[in-house]
Amino acid sequence: MSDAARIVVVGGGAIGCGIAFQLALAGERDVLVLEREAGLCRGTSAQAAGLVGQLRSSVERTRLAMESVATFSRLEREGEVKPGWRQVGSLRVAQTAERVEEFQRLCGIARAAGLGVELIDREEAARLWPVLDWREARAVLWCPSDGYLQPADLVAAYRHEARRRGVRFRTGVAVTGIQLRRGRVAAVVTAEGAIPCEYVVNAAGAHGWHLARLVGLDLPVVPVRHHYVVTVAADGIRPEFPCLRLPDAGLYARAELRALLLGGWEPRALSLAPHSFALDAPPPPIAEDWPVLSGFVEAFRPFGRDLCDLPVRRVFTGWPTFTPDGRFIVGESSRVPGFVCAVGCNAHGVSGSAGIGRHLVEALLDPDPSPYVRSLSPDRFPSGSFRWPEAEEAARRVYETYYAIGH
Ligand SMILES: Cc1cc2nc3c(=O)[nH]c(=O)nc-3n(C[C@H](O)[C@H](O)[C@H](O)COP(=O)(O)OP(=O)(O)OC[C@H]3O[C@@H](n4cnc5c(N)ncnc54)[C@H](O)[C@@H]3O)c2cc1C
Repeated sequence: MSDAARIVVVGGGAIGCGIAFQLALAGERDVLVLEREAGLCRGTSAQAAGLVGQLRSSVERTRLAMESVATFSRLEREGEVKPGWRQVGSLRVAQTAERVEEFQRLCGIARAAGLGVELIDREEAARLWPVLDWREARAVLWCPSDGYLQPADLVAAYRHEARRRGVRFRTGVAVTGIQLRRGRVAAVVTAEGAIPCEYVVNAAGAHGWHLARLVGLDLPVVPVRHHYVVTVAADGIRPEFPCLRLPDAGLYARAELRALLLGGWEPRALSLAPHSFALDAPPPPIAEDWPVLSGFVEAFRPFGRDLCDLPVRRVFTGWPTFTPDGRFIVGESSRVPGFVCAVGCNAHGVSGSAGIGRHLVEALLDPDPSPYVRSLSPDRFPSGSFRWPEAEEAARRVYETYYAIGH
């Protein structure tokens, strides 16, 4: 392979393609994306539910998600290839008094970030999602600018926009090594030969740890199992219904056309030590875990009633990656100049992809990145700074408390 590129992005999922798009917007044209599968969006991104929620427990994260929404809206409005963005809004439902208090705090974060949200009553909620029983709701937080999209459409839109600005994409090409010269990145190695580059961006998802190992870094990128079901179509469900979050039950849901998509966060998560599978092998397959999945359905019954008896048409599942501190790992390593990370997306890598791409551009090209972007650096995990069993447990805990108050 004779190509050279200033920046090689490894991984053609939502993150790798979101980065390619943002680099292209920032004027970087000499960018090559390498994906080992035969097409883009074949890894974790293909399994994502596509929910895009902006309200987070900090102003910075809320702003990041708002940036992603602004990008999705622009692509949907102006792009030649649409990301399938449906700005249907979202309803977050409190079932406990503590959660009602949390909603008040979240309203403060939304105000500080400039995000429009409002507390609405049960009648208004029932107007927005009529087939649900709203009697258990103690408070409902409405965010009209949230929504959902189809991850494969989003990746196609990123690819189109990046390509027309000069970014190149190669599928069916696996990166097997990274060459260093005097301690800094000089080339990526593939079966077809070496590709000289100044920077390599690790956007390899569940293989984020493996790629970092190629340059001697040990980063706590922990794959944690996640899954949801989609039922058969039902009368009364419409694609324009808002996304639902029921944090006290650990659940999220939305309409998938006329079917119900329902997923949740398990109180006991299942993680993988990344050392347990190889760089050149996919992460282990995941069997359908009906005790857990039926638990999601039963937890939804107080709201869903008859919808909970709909036959399940398909289970979606995968290994999104988590970090022990629940924060993304974004930026260049000072130990291995030229090695740049965009991993550990903590299960919002699709919704966060445009914002993470922006952060990466800032970390790489801005001479003075913000303190927040600097705080995401891989340098926060110096070698020997963590032990794997504890790191894995902490990462699982981030998953298990995903909807916990204050998360
Ligand atoms: C069931 C489920 C539901 C989810 N729901 C949501 C949701 O509603 N909203 C949301 O925002 N997120 C959601 N997520 C999380 C989201 O899917 C991930 O955060 C996101 O897909 C991560 O994207 P990625 O590009 O990092 O990873 P991936 O999509 O896995 O992409 C990484 C790519 O790197 C490639 N690769 C790996 N190694 C190499 C190599 N050596 N050479 C070349 N290529 C390589 C892989 O083949 C893969 O295509 C969900 C995840 C799951 C499993």
